[in-house]
Amino acid sequence: MKNKEILLVPGPTPVADEIYEALAMETRGHTDPRFVAIYKRAIENTKKLFNTDGEVFIIAGSGTLAMEMAIVNTVAEGEKLLVISHGYFGDRFIPLGEAFGIEVDVLQAEWGRRADIAAVKEKLATGGYKAVTVTHADTSTGVAADLEALIPLIKEAGALAIVDGVVATAALQEDMGKAYGGNEKYKIDIVLTGSQKAIGVPPGLAIIAFSQQALAAREALGKVRAYYADIKNWRPIMENPASYFATPPVNLIYAYDKALEMVLAEGMERREQRHLSYGRSVRAALRTYGMMPLADETVAAPTLSCILYPEGIDDAKFRGSLAARGIIVAGSLAHLAGKAFRIGHMGNTKEEQLAEAIMIIGEALQEQGVNADIQEAVKVFNETLKESKAAL
Ligand SMILES: *Cc1c(COP(=O)(O)O)cnc(C)c1O
Repeated sequence: MKNKEILLVPGPTPVADEIYEALAMETRGHTDPRFVAIYKRAIENTKKLFNTDGEVFIIAGSGTLAMEMAIVNTVAEGEKLLVISHGYFGDRFIPLGEAFGIEVDVLQAEWGRRADIAAVKEKLATGGYKAVTVTHADTSTGVAADLEALIPLIKEAGALAIVDGVVATAALQEDMGKAYGGNEKYKIDIVLTGSQKAIGVPPGLAIIAFSQQALAAREALGKVRAYYADIKNWRPIMENPASYFATPPVNLIYAYDKALEMVLAEGMERREQRHLSYGRSVRAALRTYGMMPLADETVAAPTLSCILYPEGIDDAKFRGSLAARGIIVAGSLAHLAGKAFRIGHMGNTKEEQLAEAIMIIGEALQEQGVNADIQEAVKVFNETLKESKAAL
Protein backbone atom coordinates (compact mmCIF):
# COMPACT_ATOMS: atom_id res chain seq x y z
CA MET A 1 0.00 0.00 0.00
CA LYS A 2 1.18 3.50 -0.80
CA ASN A 3 -0.89 4.80 2.10
CA LYS A 4 1.22 5.25 5.21
CA GLU A 5 -1.69 6.23 7.42
CA ILE A 6 -5.24 4.95 7.57
CA LEU A 7 -7.36 7.91 6.58
CA LEU A 8 -10.71 7.48 8.30
CA VAL A 9 -12.02 11.02 8.11
CA PRO A 10 -15.37 11.20 6.29
CA GLY A 11 -13.60 12.12 3.09
CA PRO A 12 -11.09 12.10 1.60
CA THR A 13 -10.87 8.32 2.02
CA PRO A 14 -8.01 5.84 1.46
CA VAL A 15 -6.94 5.77 -2.19
CA ALA A 16 -6.39 2.26 -3.57
CA ASP A 17 -3.03 1.53 -5.22
CA GLU A 18 -4.67 0.97 -8.63
CA ILE A 19 -6.22 4.43 -8.38
CA TYR A 20 -2.93 6.08 -7.43
CA GLU A 21 -1.36 4.32 -10.43
CA ALA A 22 -4.04 5.68 -12.73
CA LEU A 23 -3.57 9.15 -11.24
CA ALA A 24 0.15 9.00 -11.99
CA MET A 25 -0.24 8.13 -15.68
CA GLU A 26 1.33 10.50 -18.17
CA THR A 27 -0.57 13.77 -18.46
CA ARG A 28 -1.91 14.19 -21.98
CA GLY A 29 -3.54 17.08 -23.73
CA HIS A 30 -7.27 17.21 -23.07
CA THR A 31 -8.06 16.72 -26.77
CA ASP A 32 -5.61 13.83 -27.19
CA PRO A 33 -7.72 10.90 -28.44
CA ARG A 34 -6.16 8.64 -25.79
CA PHE A 35 -7.46 10.92 -23.02
CA VAL A 36 -10.76 11.58 -24.78
CA ALA A 37 -11.47 7.83 -24.86
CA ILE A 38 -10.98 7.63 -21.08
CA TYR A 39 -13.14 10.71 -20.42
CA LYS A 40 -15.86 9.24 -22.63
CA ARG A 41 -15.78 5.95 -20.75
CA ALA A 42 -15.91 7.75 -17.39
CA ILE A 43 -19.00 9.65 -18.57
CA GLU A 44 -20.69 6.47 -19.83
CA ASN A 45 -19.88 4.61 -16.61
CA THR A 46 -21.23 7.49 -14.51
CA LYS A 47 -24.50 7.18 -16.42
CA LYS A 48 -24.48 3.47 -15.60
CA LEU A 49 -23.75 4.15 -11.92
CA PHE A 50 -26.81 6.41 -11.65
CA ASN A 51 -28.83 4.47 -14.24
CA THR A 52 -29.85 7.69 -15.96
CA ASP A 53 -31.04 8.47 -19.47
CA GLY A 54 -30.27 12.13 -18.79
CA GLU A 55 -26.82 13.74 -18.78
CA VAL A 56 -23.91 13.67 -16.36
CA PHE A 57 -21.26 16.33 -15.80
CA ILE A 58 -17.78 15.56 -14.51
CA ILE A 59 -15.72 18.69 -13.99
CA ALA A 60 -12.96 20.12 -11.80
CA GLY A 61 -14.35 21.29 -8.48
CA SER A 62 -15.51 19.88 -5.18
CA GLY A 63 -18.86 18.60 -3.96
CA THR A 64 -19.91 22.14 -3.16
CA LEU A 65 -19.59 23.14 -6.81
CA ALA A 66 -21.89 20.23 -7.67
CA MET A 67 -24.38 21.52 -5.06
CA GLU A 68 -24.22 24.94 -6.69
CA MET A 69 -24.70 23.47 -10.17
CA ALA A 70 -27.79 21.61 -8.99
CA ILE A 71 -29.41 24.79 -7.69
CA VAL A 72 -28.34 27.42 -10.20
CA ASN A 73 -29.39 25.28 -13.16
CA THR A 74 -32.88 24.53 -11.89
CA VAL A 75 -34.16 27.29 -9.60
CA ALA A 76 -34.43 30.94 -10.68
CA GLU A 77 -34.17 34.05 -8.55
CA GLY A 78 -37.42 34.53 -6.63
CA GLU A 79 -38.46 30.87 -6.97
CA LYS A 80 -38.85 28.61 -3.95
CA LEU A 81 -36.49 25.92 -2.72
CA LEU A 82 -37.18 23.58 0.18
CA VAL A 83 -34.17 22.26 2.05
CA ILE A 84 -34.62 19.05 4.04
CA SER A 85 -31.62 19.12 6.35
CA HIS A 86 -30.10 16.43 8.53
CA GLY A 87 -27.18 18.58 9.62
CA TYR A 88 -24.35 20.86 8.58
CA PHE A 89 -24.23 19.84 4.90
CA GLY A 90 -27.99 20.01 4.46
CA ASP A 91 -27.84 23.53 5.92
CA ARG A 92 -25.23 24.51 3.31
CA PHE A 93 -28.04 24.73 0.72
CA ILE A 94 -29.54 27.68 2.65
CA PRO A 95 -26.82 30.32 2.06
CA LEU A 96 -26.20 28.75 -1.33
CA GLY A 97 -29.79 29.32 -2.46
CA GLU A 98 -29.86 32.77 -0.88
CA ALA A 99 -26.71 33.75 -2.79
CA PHE A 100 -28.78 33.40 -5.96
CA GLY A 101 -31.82 35.29 -4.66
CA ILE A 102 -33.82 32.09 -4.24
CA GLU A 103 -36.52 31.94 -1.57
CA VAL A 104 -35.30 29.20 0.74
CA ASP A 105 -37.44 27.31 3.25
CA VAL A 106 -35.85 24.77 5.53
CA LEU A 107 -36.90 21.77 7.58
CA GLN A 108 -34.16 21.03 10.07
CA ALA A 109 -34.11 17.71 11.86
CA GLU A 110 -32.67 17.60 15.34
CA TRP A 111 -29.02 16.48 14.96
CA GLY A 112 -28.94 12.69 14.97
CA ARG A 113 -32.52 12.32 13.79
CA ARG A 114 -34.34 12.27 10.48
CA ALA A 115 -36.66 15.02 9.33
CA ASP A 116 -40.21 14.36 10.40
CA ILE A 117 -42.21 13.04 7.44
CA ALA A 118 -45.45 14.68 8.61
CA ALA A 119 -43.64 18.04 8.74
CA VAL A 120 -42.30 17.47 5.22
CA LYS A 121 -45.84 16.77 3.98
CA GLU A 122 -47.14 19.86 5.70
CA LYS A 123 -44.43 22.08 4.21
CA LEU A 124 -44.89 20.67 0.72
CA ALA A 125 -48.64 21.21 0.97
CA THR A 126 -48.02 24.98 1.19
CA GLY A 127 -47.03 24.62 -2.45
CA GLY A 128 -44.89 26.38 -4.97
CA TYR A 129 -41.54 24.67 -4.47
CA LYS A 130 -39.49 24.44 -7.63
CA ALA A 131 -37.08 21.98 -6.08
CA VAL A 132 -36.37 20.15 -2.83
CA THR A 133 -32.93 19.12 -1.60
CA VAL A 134 -32.28 15.97 0.41
CA THR A 135 -28.85 15.13 1.81
CA HIS A 136 -28.62 11.37 1.27
CA ALA A 137 -26.23 11.01 4.19
CA ASP A 138 -25.17 13.97 6.29
CA THR A 139 -21.48 13.97 7.12
CA SER A 140 -21.94 15.98 10.30
CA THR A 141 -24.39 13.64 12.00
CA GLY A 142 -24.07 10.25 10.32
CA VAL A 143 -27.78 10.23 9.52
CA ALA A 144 -29.06 8.75 6.24
CA ALA A 145 -32.25 10.08 4.66
CA ASP A 146 -35.22 7.89 3.82
CA LEU A 147 -35.47 8.34 0.05
CA GLU A 148 -38.28 5.76 -0.16
CA ALA A 149 -40.49 8.08 1.86
CA LEU A 150 -39.22 11.44 0.62
CA ILE A 151 -38.97 11.08 -3.17
CA PRO A 152 -42.69 10.27 -3.72
CA LEU A 153 -43.71 13.24 -1.52
CA ILE A 154 -41.42 15.63 -3.37
CA LYS A 155 -42.52 14.45 -6.79
CA GLU A 156 -46.17 14.40 -5.81
CA ALA A 157 -45.76 18.07 -4.92
CA GLY A 158 -44.47 18.77 -8.42
CA ALA A 159 -40.95 19.72 -7.35
CA LEU A 160 -37.59 18.53 -8.65
CA ALA A 161 -35.92 16.03 -6.30
CA ILE A 162 -32.26 16.94 -5.74
CA VAL A 163 -30.17 14.40 -3.82
CA ASP A 164 -26.82 15.38 -2.30
CA GLY A 165 -24.89 12.13 -2.58
CA VAL A 166 -21.50 13.48 -1.59
CA VAL A 167 -21.01 10.96 1.20
CA ALA A 168 -23.38 8.32 -0.22
CA THR A 169 -22.69 7.83 -3.93
CA ALA A 170 -20.98 4.51 -4.68
CA ALA A 171 -21.95 3.22 -1.21
CA LEU A 172 -25.73 3.67 -1.21
CA GLN A 173 -27.72 3.05 -4.38
CA GLU A 174 -28.87 6.17 -6.17
CA ASP A 175 -30.82 4.73 -9.05
CA MET A 176 -32.32 7.52 -11.15
CA GLY A 177 -34.28 5.00 -13.20
CA LYS A 178 -36.06 3.69 -10.13
CA ALA A 179 -39.78 4.41 -9.91
CA TYR A 180 -40.24 5.13 -6.19
CA GLY A 181 -43.44 3.70 -4.79
CA GLY A 182 -43.90 1.97 -8.16
CA ASN A 183 -44.87 5.27 -9.81
CA GLU A 184 -43.01 6.11 -13.05
CA LYS A 185 -43.28 9.80 -12.20
CA TYR A 186 -41.54 9.42 -8.85
CA LYS A 187 -37.88 9.48 -9.79
CA ILE A 188 -34.81 11.32 -8.55
CA ASP A 189 -34.04 14.31 -10.80
CA ILE A 190 -30.52 15.20 -9.75
CA VAL A 191 -27.77 13.37 -7.88
CA LEU A 192 -24.66 15.35 -7.09
CA THR A 193 -21.43 14.14 -5.57
CA GLY A 194 -17.68 14.62 -5.21
CA SER A 195 -14.77 12.30 -5.96
CA GLN A 196 -13.20 11.98 -2.51
CA LYS A 197 -15.72 10.12 -0.39
CA ALA A 198 -17.16 6.67 -1.13
CA ILE A 199 -15.85 6.78 -4.71
CA GLY A 200 -12.32 6.77 -3.29
CA VAL A 201 -10.55 9.25 -5.60
CA PRO A 202 -8.53 12.21 -4.26
CA PRO A 203 -10.52 15.46 -3.93
CA GLY A 204 -11.06 17.61 -7.00
CA LEU A 205 -14.02 16.39 -9.06
CA ALA A 206 -17.60 17.63 -9.01
CA ILE A 207 -19.89 14.96 -10.42
CA ILE A 208 -23.57 15.53 -11.12
CA ALA A 209 -26.37 13.77 -13.00
CA PHE A 210 -29.45 15.49 -14.43
CA SER A 211 -32.61 13.61 -15.43
CA GLN A 212 -34.41 14.58 -18.64
CA GLN A 213 -36.84 16.58 -16.50
CA ALA A 214 -33.99 18.44 -14.79
CA LEU A 215 -32.37 19.15 -18.17
CA ALA A 216 -35.70 20.54 -19.38
CA ALA A 217 -35.87 22.74 -16.26
CA ARG A 218 -32.46 24.20 -17.18
CA GLU A 219 -33.66 24.89 -20.73
CA ALA A 220 -36.78 26.62 -19.44
CA LEU A 221 -34.69 29.02 -17.32
CA GLY A 222 -32.99 30.65 -20.29
CA LYS A 223 -30.06 32.60 -18.83
CA VAL A 224 -28.73 31.62 -15.43
CA ARG A 225 -26.40 33.46 -13.05
CA ALA A 226 -23.43 31.25 -13.70
CA TYR A 227 -20.77 30.63 -16.29
CA TYR A 228 -18.44 27.81 -15.19
CA ALA A 229 -21.33 26.19 -13.30
CA ASP A 230 -23.81 26.53 -16.19
CA ILE A 231 -24.47 23.03 -17.49
CA LYS A 232 -25.32 24.50 -20.90
CA ASN A 233 -21.63 25.29 -21.32
CA TRP A 234 -20.69 21.73 -20.42
CA ARG A 235 -23.34 19.77 -22.27
CA PRO A 236 -21.52 19.80 -25.61
CA ILE A 237 -18.37 18.53 -23.86
CA MET A 238 -20.20 15.65 -22.21
CA GLU A 239 -21.72 14.73 -25.58
CA ASN A 240 -18.35 15.02 -27.29
CA PRO A 241 -15.42 14.99 -24.82
CA ALA A 242 -13.01 15.95 -27.62
CA SER A 243 -14.47 19.47 -27.62
CA TYR A 244 -13.38 22.25 -25.28
CA PHE A 245 -14.99 24.57 -22.75
CA ALA A 246 -12.54 24.59 -19.81
CA THR A 247 -9.62 22.22 -19.31
CA PRO A 248 -10.70 19.03 -17.52
CA PRO A 249 -8.43 17.72 -14.70
CA VAL A 250 -6.89 15.02 -16.89
CA ASN A 251 -5.16 12.97 -14.17
CA LEU A 252 -8.13 13.04 -11.81
CA ILE A 253 -10.28 11.73 -14.63
CA TYR A 254 -7.84 8.83 -15.14
CA ALA A 255 -8.21 8.08 -11.43
CA TYR A 256 -12.00 8.45 -11.48
CA ASP A 257 -12.29 6.16 -14.48
CA LYS A 258 -10.32 3.48 -12.62
CA ALA A 259 -12.39 3.96 -9.45
CA LEU A 260 -15.63 3.59 -11.42
CA GLU A 261 -14.34 0.41 -13.02
CA MET A 262 -13.80 -0.95 -9.50
CA VAL A 263 -17.26 0.19 -8.32
CA LEU A 264 -19.02 -1.38 -11.29
CA ALA A 265 -16.98 -4.59 -10.99
CA GLU A 266 -18.02 -4.95 -7.34
CA GLY A 267 -21.61 -4.05 -8.27
CA MET A 268 -23.75 -1.51 -6.43
CA GLU A 269 -25.85 -4.12 -4.66
CA ARG A 270 -22.82 -5.82 -3.14
CA ARG A 271 -21.17 -2.50 -2.47
CA GLU A 272 -24.19 -1.22 -0.56
CA GLN A 273 -24.27 -4.40 1.51
CA ARG A 274 -20.57 -4.09 2.28
CA HIS A 275 -21.08 -0.54 3.52
CA LEU A 276 -24.11 -1.48 5.60
CA SER A 277 -22.08 -4.17 7.32
CA TYR A 278 -19.09 -1.86 7.81
CA GLY A 279 -21.27 0.72 9.52
CA ARG A 280 -23.02 -1.75 11.79
CA SER A 281 -19.80 -3.48 12.78
CA VAL A 282 -17.79 -0.35 13.55
CA ARG A 283 -20.60 1.04 15.70
CA ALA A 284 -21.19 -2.28 17.49
CA ALA A 285 -17.49 -2.49 18.37
CA LEU A 286 -17.33 1.10 19.61
CA ARG A 287 -20.42 0.57 21.77
CA THR A 288 -18.47 -2.06 23.72
CA TYR A 289 -16.11 0.78 24.71
CA GLY A 290 -19.09 2.83 25.94
CA MET A 291 -18.90 5.06 22.86
CA MET A 292 -22.39 5.83 21.58
CA PRO A 293 -23.25 6.81 18.01
CA LEU A 294 -25.21 10.07 17.70
CA ALA A 295 -27.64 8.45 15.26
CA ASP A 296 -29.85 5.53 16.15
CA GLU A 297 -29.02 2.33 14.20
CA THR A 298 -32.31 2.59 12.26
CA VAL A 299 -31.26 5.89 10.67
CA ALA A 300 -27.46 5.55 10.74
CA ALA A 301 -25.47 6.12 7.55
CA PRO A 302 -23.43 3.17 6.30
CA THR A 303 -20.53 5.41 5.24
CA LEU A 304 -19.58 7.29 8.39
CA SER A 305 -20.48 7.56 12.05
CA CYS A 306 -20.55 10.42 14.51
CA ILE A 307 -19.53 8.95 17.86
CA LEU A 308 -20.12 10.66 21.20
CA TYR A 309 -17.26 10.54 23.71
CA PRO A 310 -17.82 8.94 27.10
CA GLU A 311 -17.55 11.33 30.09
CA GLY A 312 -14.11 12.78 30.59
CA ILE A 313 -12.47 12.06 27.21
CA ASP A 314 -10.42 14.91 25.81
CA ASP A 315 -11.06 15.22 22.07
CA ALA A 316 -7.72 16.70 21.00
CA LYS A 317 -5.75 14.24 23.09
CA PHE A 318 -7.81 11.30 21.80
CA ARG A 319 -7.45 12.19 18.14
CA GLY A 320 -3.79 13.12 18.62
CA SER A 321 -3.10 9.76 20.17
CA LEU A 322 -4.81 8.00 17.22
CA ALA A 323 -2.86 10.11 14.74
CA ALA A 324 0.43 9.22 16.44
CA ARG A 325 -0.46 5.58 15.67
CA GLY A 326 -1.44 6.29 12.07
CA ILE A 327 -5.22 6.43 12.39
CA ILE A 328 -6.76 9.69 11.25
CA VAL A 329 -10.33 10.51 12.30
CA ALA A 330 -12.19 13.82 12.26
CA GLY A 331 -13.51 16.06 14.98
CA SER A 332 -17.15 17.05 15.10
CA LEU A 333 -18.86 20.18 13.85
CA ALA A 334 -20.91 22.97 15.39
CA HIS A 335 -22.29 22.25 18.86
CA LEU A 336 -20.75 18.77 18.87
CA ALA A 337 -17.18 20.05 18.51
CA GLY A 338 -15.09 18.49 21.30
CA LYS A 339 -17.96 16.18 22.29
CA ALA A 340 -17.81 13.66 19.49
CA PHE A 341 -15.58 12.44 16.67
CA ARG A 342 -16.42 11.25 13.19
CA ILE A 343 -15.08 8.11 11.58
CA GLY A 344 -15.48 7.21 7.91
CA HIS A 345 -15.92 3.57 6.88
CA MET A 346 -16.41 3.79 3.17
CA GLY A 347 -15.05 3.50 -0.33
CA ASN A 348 -11.99 1.32 -0.69
CA THR A 349 -11.31 1.11 3.05
CA LYS A 350 -10.54 -2.50 4.02
CA GLU A 351 -11.99 -4.56 6.87
CA GLU A 352 -8.48 -5.01 8.30
CA GLN A 353 -7.99 -1.26 8.42
CA LEU A 354 -11.23 -0.82 10.34
CA ALA A 355 -10.28 -3.64 12.75
CA GLU A 356 -6.95 -1.92 13.35
CA ALA A 357 -8.73 1.36 14.04
CA ILE A 358 -10.95 -0.38 16.61
CA MET A 359 -7.83 -1.67 18.39
CA ILE A 360 -6.06 1.66 18.40
CA ILE A 361 -9.18 3.50 19.57
CA GLY A 362 -9.21 1.09 22.53
CA GLU A 363 -5.59 1.98 23.30
CA ALA A 364 -6.31 5.71 23.12
CA LEU A 365 -9.22 5.24 25.53
CA GLN A 366 -7.03 3.25 27.94
CA GLU A 367 -4.55 6.15 27.92
CA GLN A 368 -7.34 8.34 29.24
CA GLY A 369 -8.27 5.90 31.96
CA VAL A 370 -11.16 4.07 30.28
CA ASN A 371 -11.23 0.36 30.96
CA ALA A 372 -11.51 -0.63 27.28
CA ASP A 373 -11.57 -4.34 26.44
CA ILE A 374 -9.84 -4.36 23.06
CA GLN A 375 -10.11 -8.09 22.46
CA GLU A 376 -13.84 -7.99 23.07
CA ALA A 377 -14.30 -5.00 20.74
CA VAL A 378 -12.39 -6.65 17.91
CA LYS A 379 -14.37 -9.84 18.46
CA VAL A 380 -17.65 -7.91 18.27
CA PHE A 381 -16.40 -6.14 15.13
CA ASN A 382 -15.58 -9.42 13.39
CA GLU A 383 -18.74 -11.19 14.55
CA THR A 384 -21.02 -8.34 13.55
CA LEU A 385 -19.32 -8.18 10.18
CA LYS A 386 -19.92 -11.90 9.68
CA GLU A 387 -23.50 -11.77 10.93
CA SER A 388 -24.49 -8.73 8.90
CA LYS A 389 -22.89 -10.20 5.79
CA ALA A 390 -24.94 -13.35 6.27
CA ALA A 391 -28.14 -11.43 7.03
CA LEU A 392 -27.90 -9.09 4.06
C1 LIG B 1 -18.29 16.62 1.95
C2 LIG B 1 -19.71 16.95 1.67
C3 LIG B 1 -20.07 18.08 0.93
C4 LIG B 1 -19.08 19.11 0.48
O1 LIG B 1 -18.19 18.58 -0.43
P1 LIG B 1 -16.81 19.33 -0.72
O2 LIG B 1 -16.14 18.38 -1.68
O3 LIG B 1 -16.11 19.49 0.58
O4 LIG B 1 -17.13 20.63 -1.34
C5 LIG B 1 -21.41 18.27 0.66
N1 LIG B 1 -22.34 17.42 1.10
C6 LIG B 1 -22.03 16.34 1.82
C7 LIG B 1 -23.11 15.43 2.27
C8 LIG B 1 -20.71 16.08 2.14
O5 LIG B 1 -20.40 15.00 2.85
